[in-house]
Amino acid sequence: MRRVESNPQFLKSWAASAVEEILTYFRFLAERGCVGFECSKPTLDMIGAWGRRKKIWSETLKEIRTDLGDCRRCRLSKGRKHIVFGTGDPHARLMFVGEGPGYEEDQSGEPFVGAAGRLLTRIIDAIHLSREQVYICNIIKCRPPGNRNPMADEIEICYPFLKRQIASVEPDIICALGTFAAQTLLDIGSPISKLRGCFHDYSGIKVLPTYHPAYLLRNPEKKRDVWEDMKKLMKALDVRDESLSQDLK
Ligand code: SF4
Repeated sequence: MRRVESNPQFLKSWAASAVEEILTYFRFLAERGCVGFECSKPTLDMIGAWGRRKKIWSETLKEIRTDLGDCRRCRLSKGRKHIVFGTGDPHARLMFVGEGPGYEEDQSGEPFVGAAGRLLTRIIDAIHLSREQVYICNIIKCRPPGNRNPMADEIEICYPFLKRQIASVEPDIICALGTFAAQTLLDIGSPISKLRGCFHDYSGIKVLPTYHPAYLLRNPEKKRDVWEDMKKLMKALDVRDESLSQDLK
């Protein structure tokens, strides 16, 4: 018989379910207005953090950006106007990771500011958050010429900086926008249509792949799928007031 204490994976999942049970019980007490227990949100957040990975040392986003510098590590540096590093809350619970900058992002240096970016802003609004409350970045930080897909070697060179950004922000959930973000983060070749709709794992962080907003602009009938994904995301973030949510029109 397998010895439980020698199986770290089993212990990890057992501890996670034990913490979840405690949280569920405390939420139950809080909802019943129970006195004598400290069931406030800070306490629930603290309990929810039990057993999660401990940050021993981490860089700040500013330090990572400084290290990136005027990056010439791959060929995409030749045609870019701006490096598009990322924006938002440096300690966000939710991180959106897209593919790479387009024309408007390259011009401004900000991620997701074009038509697809405006749709992403509406998606973020719909889950009762603001762009300032999340962190938004991309797999690669310079615009590929003609908005072509990033090449494997370009992703390989740039990806370590995204990994460092993720380690610095340490989000609870990463929403991977589109094929390249999902496949890169999950190190998998499956299409986004197969990956979306459920949570995956990136170093202990939940990853929810969904369609890229640019794809939604071309295929508006897929908005319904994204909204279903966002409802799962809200539930995982414990954003409860779904009744206020607007649909993605
Ligand atoms: S895409 Fe990344 S690795 Fe390539 S030049 Fe830009 S910042 Fe550097």
